[in-house]
Parts: sequence; C-alpha cells; structure tokens
Amino acid sequence: MAAGKIRIAGVKRHSCVDGPGVRYALFFQGCPHHCPGCQNPDTHDGRGGREKDLSDVIRDLQGTRYLDGVTLSGGDPLMQPEAAAAIAEAAEARGLPVWLYTGWTWEQIVAGAAGPAAIKVLPHLTVLVDGPYLSALNHGTAQWRGSSNQRLIWVPESLRRGQVVCWQNEGGFSKDGGQ
Ligand code: SF4
Repeated sequence: MAAGKIRIAGVKRHSCVDGPGVRYALFFQGCPHHCPGCQNPDTHDGRGGREKDLSDVIRDLQGTRYLDGVTLSGGDPLMQPEAAAAIAEAAEARGLPVWLYTGWTWEQIVAGAAGPAAIKVLPHLTVLVDGPYLSALNHGTAQWRGSSNQRLIWVPESLRRGQVVCWQNEGGFSKDGGQ
C-alpha cells in the first residue's frame, strides 16, 4: 500500500451495531485469517475493495457529526497499521473512543505477530475486539462479537497493567468506552 493510501471495503457513517452508541464504522480491505464461516469473505483479498486517499477518509470522519465513537473493522485493520493509527489519532483528536476488530489475539499482537507497526496502533485504542471468529463458539449471545472466544479488551488499562483487562459495559453504554 502506497504511503497516504488506504484500501477499504466500505464505510457506515452512523452504525448502531459495531460497538456502543452511534459510530463511524470503517471496514478495511484485506484479511489473512480466513476464519471458516466468516460473514465478510469479500473483505479478505488485499487487492479488492477501493483504494482511497487516507486524507480523504480522515476528512470524511472529521466532517461526520452526531458520533459517539469510531470502529475500525474489516477485513483486519491491522493489515494496514499506519492507516489504522492515523484514523484512530484523528478520532482521538475529536475525543471519540476507538474500537478495533482484529483476527489476531492480544497476546499475538504484543508478541509482534501482526508486525511492529500494529503494536503502535494500540495506544490509540479504547477497546480491542480480538481473536478469530470460531463458528462453534457462536451462540448468538456475545454482544458486539461473533463468537465467545473474542474479548472486549480495555486497551489503556491492559497496556498500563501489562495484562489483559476486559472492558465492562456497565449500565448500558458508556460514552468514553471506559468505565
Ligand atoms: S478475522 Fe474477521 S474478517 Fe478476517 S476471516 Fe476472521 S471473521 Fe473474517
């Protein structure tokens, strides 16, 4: 991917299903995990989707009103870590909490399995939804996740403690994505 570019599968400017509240949901193109039963197989091919200027995507995000947060999904956003970090930074600048969905686990990411640039995305996130989709663990009860192995990880606290701390959605939705 050329510098300053991003390849996306699509965008929903006001999504109510990709985390709490009304969220700007950006779906990245490209995923190496190929989970059996994946709901979005069209997002796997890293040459598919649409290439856009990263600055145009950020401008679109900045110009979208009535948002409670931003969600980076896919595909796997950590396949384009520089773009993911830039968009997350732009969201942070607006005070919007960022959720990111990835097929890697937290432990794999911090061990470097998704590459060094993926680790640098973490400080810009509020919640990381981690791990592959496992259809055998899809009981239809895991909120905001496809299967129950996937965790809603509270990233700032997990980085601070050096261990996974799960995010609790106490009393409905919390606007800052924290507690
Ligand atoms: S990580 Fe997500 S997009 Fe990628 S194959 Fe698994 S479920 Fe599909």
